[in-house]
Amino acid sequence: MVNTMKADLRFHADLRDFLDKPARSSGRVAHFFNAQGSVKDAIESHGIPHTEVARIVVDRRSVDFTYQVADGDRIDVYSVSELLGVAPTKTLCPPAPNPVRFVLDGHLRRLSRYLRLIGFDTVCEGAWNDDDLVSIQAREDRILLTRDVGLLKRSAVVRGAYIRATDPHQQLVEVVRRFHLARRLDPFTRCLECNGVLSAVDKDEVAGNLPPRTRELFDDYVMCPACRRVYWQGSHFARLTHIVQAARDADQAAAASSLHPLAERDHDDNDAGREL
Ligand SMILES: [Zn+2]
Repeated sequence: MVNTMKADLRFHADLRDFLDKPARSSGRVAHFFNAQGSVKDAIESHGIPHTEVARIVVDRRSVDFTYQVADGDRIDVYSVSELLGVAPTKTLCPPAPNPVRFVLDGHLRRLSRYLRLIGFDTVCEGAWNDDDLVSIQAREDRILLTRDVGLLKRSAVVRGAYIRATDPHQQLVEVVRRFHLARRLDPFTRCLECNGVLSAVDKDEVAGNLPPRTRELFDDYVMCPACRRVYWQGSHFARLTHIVQAARDADQAAAASSLHPLAERDHDDNDAGREL
């Protein structure tokens, strides 16, 4: 069937990264269609997941995702990153859950550890498939973080974000900025491995399981009630403190320069260790 109607879409800022190469520099795309459909479907048909869109303007009028595209429309589509300072009620972005909590694609395992490090309830299991991620996001009212564009296009994904950076430190800064988390940090309160909430434990209780040198050097320990891991302020502590500080500074920091658009899902490496 020949498409007989046409709308002009103009994507702004980093939404252009999702477009096919010829359209990337201008952000302009001709959208041909032959039956009425929502602007959400039109936008996503060109590669942009709805979670990354903060505002849609048709002929100077703001519309929501259900707007039915008409022949001859000129549609401007603005990115979440452009409207970070704008109240969510004035954008298409749903408000973040309170408290803020996340579910992460298994490929973002190091980011999940860093989000726990700064105190956010974060679940991430390599065994979960796309259906699992979407249903956990909805059922537990979590924000889905992924580098899988297709996953974010699913209509059941209400709260989600595409993670642009490939470096886990940069990813953390990106998430803190996007969800305005810098003032809501509660570092060193969650188990990095399993998301359990840590609580103080007597040295005597755990001494038998500690390396002798650790026992000598440290008096304060916390334990995860879920997986029984014990943490102390060991040699990794300074490095982890730096990561926390980078998260605190994230809102002030200049726009991250090392963000790479739409790279393949990155591979995770193991960053295990019990020392805080
Ligand atoms: Zn644990």
